Order: sequence, then C-alpha cells, then structure tokens
Amino acid sequence: MDKKYFIAGNWKMNGTLASLSEIIKIDKACAQLDSDLVLCLPATIINAASEKITSNKLVIGAQDCHPKDTGAFTGDISAMMLKNVGAKMIIVGHSERRMSCGETSLLVKEKATSIINTGLPAIICVGETEEQKLSGETEKVVCSQLKNSLPNMSNDENTIIAYEPVWAIGTGKVPSLDEINHVHETLRNLLREVKGASISKTIRILYGGSVKPDNAKEIFSLDDVDGALVGGASLKADDFINIAKQAQI
Ligand code: PEP
Repeated sequence: MDKKYFIAGNWKMNGTLASLSEIIKIDKACAQLDSDLVLCLPATIINAASEKITSNKLVIGAQDCHPKDTGAFTGDISAMMLKNVGAKMIIVGHSERRMSCGETSLLVKEKATSIINTGLPAIICVGETEEQKLSGETEKVVCSQLKNSLPNMSNDENTIIAYEPVWAIGTGKVPSLDEINHVHETLRNLLREVKGASISKTIRILYGGSVKPDNAKEIFSLDDVDGALVGGASLKADDFINIAKQAQI
C-alpha cells in the first residue's frame, strides 16, 4: 500500500496578516501535491488564512489549546474556539511548551482529549533532550511521554504522533536515519501494545527537527516515517513546498 505522507508546518510565534501572501503561495503550490498538508499558524491569523485558501489540499491548524472548552482562563484559547475560526487540527505537547511552560504529559493528554472531543485530530509531540539522549534514555523518555499523553479514545484518524528530538529542533542537527527509524519503530511497538495491531500500523508518526528540502527525501524514505513536522523551513513557501515535493513517490 502506498503511503500518503503528512507534512505539517509549525509557524510557532511567527506570522502576521502580512504573511497571508506566503500562505496563499503555499496553498497554490499544494494543489499539485498528493500529501496531506497542514500549516499550524498563530491563532491570530487562523481565521484570515482559512478564508484565503482555495486549494482544498492545504488545511490550517493551530499550535496549542486549553483543555477546557470555555471558562475563566484569561488569555487562553480552547480547541472549540480554534475550530470555530477555521483550525482543522491542533498540535499539543510541543517540547517548547513542555519545557518553557512546564506542561506535563497529563496536561497534554487532557488537551488532546479536548481536541478530539471537539472533532479535530490532535498532533501529539514527544522527544528527548540532548542530555537524555546522551544518557541512553531516548526510548524510555519518548515511550513514557507517549503513553501518558495519549487519550484513551485516540486512534489512527484522530491522532497523529510527532517524534521531535529536542536537540534537533532549530539546530540543524538531525539524528541518523537509523536512529530516526528506530525511535519510530519503538513508538509503533508501544502503540501496538496500547491500541492494537491495526491502529499501530496506520497511525501516522511524523519526524520533526531540522527537516529541510535537502534532507527530507531520505527521511521520508524510512519505513516507519509517515511525514514531517517542519518548523523554520515552513515559514518560506519555497522551502515548505520543496520539502513536500520530496514526499511525492
Ligand atoms: C518544530 O519546532 O516543530 C521543528 C521541527 O522546528 P525546526 O524544523 O525548525 O527544527
């Protein structure tokens, strides 16, 4: 069975209404591509971007949400509110939030549960720090994060996993191909234990961390890699499209 790759851009805290021209450029180029393509944008431009895209290929997503739908949570935004302005999926558990906002896997699970209950898929991120990698703890760390972040109702349609080694994010460093595939295999084995063989085979596991047009093809060639979560290189239409083109079989 041919794989349908899934490529998501994470714009982080970048982008204003002036960036709509870049998003429109990505949207136009996406029309020719076969993969599932997503841009997870700052909440402030989700509505405007959703109204501008016309390709029926690119979808707009968000980068985080509060675990509750509504309430006295000053400054927070819920999955329901993001869906209301056009978000079609939401990232949770990114290492920047786990580390700078102290988010635990339990909180990530609550957020992912609320996303799924809202009717959207959740992209759940896991990944080890450089220190954990050097002390041989990668498997233990990513398995514990995944086990504790995964909602009970997760399946291959409502959940996407992203393996993002913290030390590879925004650094230009990338694990070896063997290392990437090994971690993805480990995560898939865990998914087999907790979700069963069928879901574990089809649930998508993305790699993220310094994916660029010149390394995407070899990363996409790995058996257990179903796509990529792309940070810096998703901000420029040409780079994001060139990465997406590497997934064309
Ligand atoms: C990310 O932050 O999700 C990411 C993968 O960033 P970059 O591609 O810039 O390493």
